[in-house]
Amino acid sequence: MTDAELAPLAPEYVRGIAPYVGGKPIEELAREHGLDPATIIKLASNENPRGPSPKALAAISAAAADITRYPDGNAYTLKQALARRFDVDADQIVLGNGSNDVLELVAQAYVRPGDHTVFSQHAFTVYPLATQARGARGIVVPARNFGHDLDAMRNAITPQTRVVFVANPNNPTGTWLNPVEIDRFLSHVPRDVLVVLDEAYNEYLKPEEQAHATRWIARYPHLVVTRSFSKAFGLAALRIGYGVMNARVADMLNRVRQPFNVNALAQAAALASLDDEGYVEESRRLNFEGMRQLEAGFNRLRLQFLPSRGNFILVRVGDAIAVYGKLLEHGVIVRPVGNYELPHWLRITVGLPRENERFLSALETALHA
Ligand code: PMP
Repeated sequence: MTDAELAPLAPEYVRGIAPYVGGKPIEELAREHGLDPATIIKLASNENPRGPSPKALAAISAAAADITRYPDGNAYTLKQALARRFDVDADQIVLGNGSNDVLELVAQAYVRPGDHTVFSQHAFTVYPLATQARGARGIVVPARNFGHDLDAMRNAITPQTRVVFVANPNNPTGTWLNPVEIDRFLSHVPRDVLVVLDEAYNEYLKPEEQAHATRWIARYPHLVVTRSFSKAFGLAALRIGYGVMNARVADMLNRVRQPFNVNALAQAAALASLDDEGYVEESRRLNFEGMRQLEAGFNRLRLQFLPSRGNFILVRVGDAIAVYGKLLEHGVIVRPVGNYELPHWLRITVGLPRENERFLSALETALHA
């Protein structure tokens, strides 16, 4: 059988998927441009620019002694800790290989071929991916001021709708919905439609702006709140995230989940990180300062940007692919967002102060070259 004959064996909706393109890895750029990897800065994947928390590293070392064994597939200890934190039962928590996994599990458990999901224009790209992989149809609701238009999203719900995805804050726009708006939205969504509230960047919000959405689950059985350890907790490489939801919904997700979807080192590090308030606070502080630094730089360069509540920011540079290419020549990796219908913008992850500075000066050179 030839390659050409093999491809059509996959369903047409799988063949139609545009594969996810991540930020360019440092090693790849080093190879392509003959650069020393140590001189490259990557502000392209919304990662935490600080080194890992010493508490997480210690937990990983301790857990490493047991890597010949499978992890606890039910993650008993970590679920107990999360349940205590959110004042829910442990059976309301589903862990994922990244919160990305939990988003996929929702689609896998609830979306059939031909069903609809609803999400916003410019919203996180995994929503259309997870939808299309099920042979379902994503209804894209036009954004309002680059953010979610919740009224329009509610009006887009039809009897075919199974899941609505809401990112708060949203990647890549950094837009944010206040808790009152979300609460009102939830109260208007029919109970037979799941609402996934994706809070991957929640910890970067000022504490007074954080929604405590997990407290709404008792009132809204159709709400799934997802969170990540990849961002403010600094564990992106380990791949661990979770969802908090009604126990019946969790039961469905657990039926389609791989038995050992979250590895033992990730579970141990996440458990240690949960108590590491200092690390998260310092990540938030550093992000806040870095954000102001980038905004000041963009103002100086007279570039339009979107005020962001995440650990990244969109800046309008004109021909974004050309500017992206010039930044790469300077050893600076950022993210073009043409795939989000934002061809004139670049997304910059907030880095350490010296990384932000180097990016800004490379940007200035790139724009005037
Ligand atoms: N949701 C949003 C909005 C994101 O930007 C990301 C990461 N890019 C994720 C979820 C998934 O993150 P992870 O799988 O690392 O938890």
